[in-house]
Amino acid sequence: MPHQANRREFLSRSGLALAGLSTSGLMSAQLPAAEETAPFHFLHLTDMHVQPELRATEGWRQCIAKVNSLSPRPDFIITGGDLIMDALAVDADRIEQQWSLFDTGMKELEIPAYHVVGNHDVGGWSSKGTLSRDDRYYGKRVFADRYGDGKTYRSFDHKGWHFILLDSIGQATDSPDYIGHIDEAQLDWLKRDLEATGKATPIVIVTHIPFYSAMHQMLSGPTKPIPPSALVTNVFEFRKLLQQHNVKLVLSGHGHVRERIELVGITHIQSGAVCGMWWKGPVFGDAEAFGVVTCHRDSFDYRFQDFDWNAKG
Ligand SMILES: [Zn+2]
Repeated sequence: MPHQANRREFLSRSGLALAGLSTSGLMSAQLPAAEETAPFHFLHLTDMHVQPELRATEGWRQCIAKVNSLSPRPDFIITGGDLIMDALAVDADRIEQQWSLFDTGMKELEIPAYHVVGNHDVGGWSSKGTLSRDDRYYGKRVFADRYGDGKTYRSFDHKGWHFILLDSIGQATDSPDYIGHIDEAQLDWLKRDLEATGKATPIVIVTHIPFYSAMHQMLSGPTKPIPPSALVTNVFEFRKLLQQHNVKLVLSGHGHVRERIELVGITHIQSGAVCGMWWKGPVFGDAEAFGVVTCHRDSFDYRFQDFDWNAKG
């Protein structure tokens, strides 16, 4: 079989030659190392609203099972807030019950998780609230201690990307109710965090309450004022700061709708809701789902992934 032997020899030699060529080619082109250019995936799961009713905990566990089954395996999840049905206007026992049910799903998750606070995760910030200010379930303490590494906003780096997890839940000045707001201390931190990140690193920001949304215009008409609880009320003050950096993507929840806005070089995506219409079914025909984000070297892809939930049982 001389022909085959020669062919194998040729392939072997040419393989070596190609390997040599590619090595020198890489060096001369100064391409980054393979791990920096390999895409990675993460998930954005928002608005779980876990509660004892409407089989919500079963749905949450089914969602986690879907996450665990994905291939390729995502590097981590980011939860986008409203993790539990409501802490605003219920007592401490009810709040603890909901967090315990949320934890039953989290214990089954096989990849790391980072959590963003939503309005419904905040104890007692409502005109209908019953918690006293010194109750340990009041405000954001439980979220920060259990799910935020002691904080309600923070950032981290992953494979060449920078991730900023914001606390978009402010409190009105004339009532105990929440509004969409990034407070002064957080804005100072955000400025320093962006400066330290630099101008080139691609950035993902995750906020529970969206910066922008056209949903309200669709549902209520274009001239009706948008309530301060619907959007981050002071984004106008820091929008130029974001444009000075390589912010690629702002992920949000809160509205339970799927919405994508491309605005001045930044993509804003509302990732629907894991609970759909508060565990009563799809929202505007969109199934209960979460977002799958694939990060390339300086760009991303986004898609929705449902987890085959049937609210009717
Ligand atoms: Zn919300």
